[in-house]
Amino acid sequence: MPIQQLPIELANQIAAGEVVERPSSVVKELVENALDAGADELVLDIEKGGSKRIRIRDNGCGISRDELTLALSRHATSKVQSLEDLERIGSLGFRGEALASISSVSRLRLTSKPAEQSEAWQAWTEGRDMQVNVEPAAHPNGTTVDIQDLFFNTPARRKFLRTEKTEFSHIDEVIKRIALSRFDVAFQLSHNGKTLRRYPRADSEKQQLQRVAKICGGQFAEQAYQLQSPEGDYKLKGWMVAPEHCRYQGDVQHFFVNGRMMRDKLLAHAVRQAYEKYLPTDRVPTYILYFELPAEQVDVNVHPAKHEVRFHYQRQVHDFILTQVERVLRSLTEMSVSAGAE
Ligand code: ADP
Ligand code: MG
Repeated sequence: MPIQQLPIELANQIAAGEVVERPSSVVKELVENALDAGADELVLDIEKGGSKRIRIRDNGCGISRDELTLALSRHATSKVQSLEDLERIGSLGFRGEALASISSVSRLRLTSKPAEQSEAWQAWTEGRDMQVNVEPAAHPNGTTVDIQDLFFNTPARRKFLRTEKTEFSHIDEVIKRIALSRFDVAFQLSHNGKTLRRYPRADSEKQQLQRVAKICGGQFAEQAYQLQSPEGDYKLKGWMVAPEHCRYQGDVQHFFVNGRMMRDKLLAHAVRQAYEKYLPTDRVPTYILYFELPAEQVDVNVHPAKHEVRFHYQRQVHDFILTQVERVLRSLTEMSVSAGAE
């Protein structure tokens, strides 16, 4: 075959292969966009596990009429302008690929109204060159992204979708984790017309623990101890369960780094090492931890789905987590020893 430029639609579909694995990955990208837009209220409507519809409405800053077309094109982002920006990212998104990718493998409609614009507009794309159409619409301040028939034009992907129930449970999981990272945002999640989850804003500590109980179970919330590291460049806070109450594999283990949920080996290892000498062999540490560090010390541009990070000072990060968790565990075991002595 001769060398040819790929049609835009095909190039986007190839890119979609990396970010859009299943409905829950779409949900994650869209929710992150809404959060980056400063929304504090998100309403999600899912139909048939997301394969028929994923609709998310937010009350964020919106997208102006002039920018709707750009928002749907690839490598277009309002979040990064320079290499320096890339080196200290404060937003959840930055690749400028999600909307273009998703719209190349679904029927996507983007409706938005910034507060300073008097009318709302709607955009969608079609064809090999992903021509964008824009027309007037009705919408309150904020944005709705409505995605129908995910993977309708990529049968190989569609074939890999599991049952409605399984796909929805992945979505549910994504929302739970994000809800654990943003107590200042209200979430509502419906499936096939039924509202299944409501997480109202949780400002006070008590409300936060209520949200934790909803998401991780009442038992976790009852047994969890709050942790808060002293002020410094590194901050660790969250909840952890005393070793004697820790259970088996698959229990609550959530780590957030600068507000992103992560599955990071280094962090998990540090926590495990701290717990090790207190835990019976077949038990696992149980925790929700939030780690904050200066953005320029962490590289989030490692993996398209952004589950992994790279720390510039791995050793220091590891030892900091280890020390902080150990400190709490030591005080917990001292507490239970003295309680036992009475
Ligand atoms: P990225 O998030 O990496 O910038 P996306 O393709 O997800 O790329 O989004 C492209 C751009 O569209 C964003 O940079 C942002 O300016 C705009 N955008 C997307 N979703 C929203 C939203 N819900 N509210 C406001 N702006 C949005
Ligand atoms: Mg994005």
